[in-house]
Amino acid sequence: MNVADTERATTRLRAHDYIVSDSPAAADIVLFNTCSVRERAAHKVLTRIGEVRKQRRDQTPLIGVMGCVAQLEGELLFEQSPHINFVVGTRATDRLPAIIEKVLEGQGKVLDLGERAEGESLQIATHARHSAYVGFVPIIEGCNKFCSYCIVPFSRGREKSRLASEIIADVSRLRDQGFREVHLIGQNVNSYRPALNDGFELFKGATPFSRLLRAVAATGIERIKFTTSFPRDFHEDIVSALDEHENLCNWVHLPVQSGSDKVLRAMRRGYKVSDYLRCVENTRRAHRRISLTSDIIIGFPSESSSDFKETLKLVQTCRFDGLYIFKYSERPRTPSAKLLDDVGKEEKASRFLELERLQREVQRGIYLDYVGETLKVLVEGVSTKSLKDMTGHTTCHKVVNFAGNSQMLGSVIDVQVTESKINSLYGKDLVR
Ligand code: SAH
Ligand code: SF4
Repeated sequence: MNVADTERATTRLRAHDYIVSDSPAAADIVLFNTCSVRERAAHKVLTRIGEVRKQRRDQTPLIGVMGCVAQLEGELLFEQSPHINFVVGTRATDRLPAIIEKVLEGQGKVLDLGERAEGESLQIATHARHSAYVGFVPIIEGCNKFCSYCIVPFSRGREKSRLASEIIADVSRLRDQGFREVHLIGQNVNSYRPALNDGFELFKGATPFSRLLRAVAATGIERIKFTTSFPRDFHEDIVSALDEHENLCNWVHLPVQSGSDKVLRAMRRGYKVSDYLRCVENTRRAHRRISLTSDIIIGFPSESSSDFKETLKLVQTCRFDGLYIFKYSERPRTPSAKLLDDVGKEEKASRFLELERLQREVQRGIYLDYVGETLKVLVEGVSTKSLKDMTGHTTCHKVVNFAGNSQMLGSVIDVQVTESKINSLYGKDLVR
């Protein structure tokens, strides 16, 4: 989401003749994009601002903060750092040029935490995209779920879905520009519910999201991924759509958060472990093997060691292809902030390590099974580990590295897996 917001901000600024600099050491304006899902987000941005100030003692740039910290802290940021000139909330991105203009005109500190303006539509210029091959397409913003620990409904506002016609136009444009893959993105993509049916009238489905998937698949773009899916809204028709269309990729990110019904209830997730397991079974019944990844929070208030054991059991059962583990972090204003954060620091650290150990074991087995297989890899860049290696993703969203060259960039290549690591595969391309 933050990457997509940066793309949106860059598009707007470039349209108003701002030039994007690679370095805060040279820029006239430094804009910080922020995330506040976990603790100390405001602290982090203030530290970064301090670093930039130190680097630029001679000539201080204008400093702005955008994203979730901006939305949540608002005016307070001006008190916390006298160097901040403007604060731009999560729905004010498109007004950035006007906000900066006001600062340059000498109107003092400028704050905009307003909603999106009527008729404002998302447009991302090709030059602003983070990749020339993989395009992010937001389909829904905000969240109505109010899980008890989560700041997102406060920082991003209520769910608002874009029209399918706009989404399809974005995907078709990306396809025509040579993009090979799109990611439909949102806090909960499968809660997608546009105000009008524009754009998917011809497509059937049990939910608006599965209709959208079929409509996007019909654009013919080579690969479509989507993230994040919310378990309560994970209708089996999503899996049917994946079965019908090869270009809907075989990867689902479905955060479970806990393996204990008691904790899930306290988290207000709106489903039980048995409901989640049914979603997993649905993905397992698909014609292709669907890779499944998840998020888990350990150490939620009142999580006992037997609750935690149930989480371990769930991870054994589900055999996730990947897992993001988070230590519970109390977020002010959320309902769970009123609960006693009673799982001690050391206990959280030890549960984190135990779950991580189990997941590594599960993952080792899953990744080992790919050795000898040939996978289609979209070549996205040079590996960070070795300049001789290229890196990319499979349709099941695994990272694959292999010896290659930059001429391969942007193509889809058959790679035979020769080695498995914990979080990636290594292979050789079959053409050379
Ligand atoms: N909408 C998605 C997740 C969005 S936030 C969903 O509901 O699944 C991304 C992840 O951050 C969450 O899945 C959760 O695991 C983690 N997270 C959110 N709030 C957190 C908190 N207060 N403490 C620790 N982890 C948190
Ligand atoms: Fe946060 Fe829950 Fe919304 Fe996900 S569904 S963004 S965890 S409130």
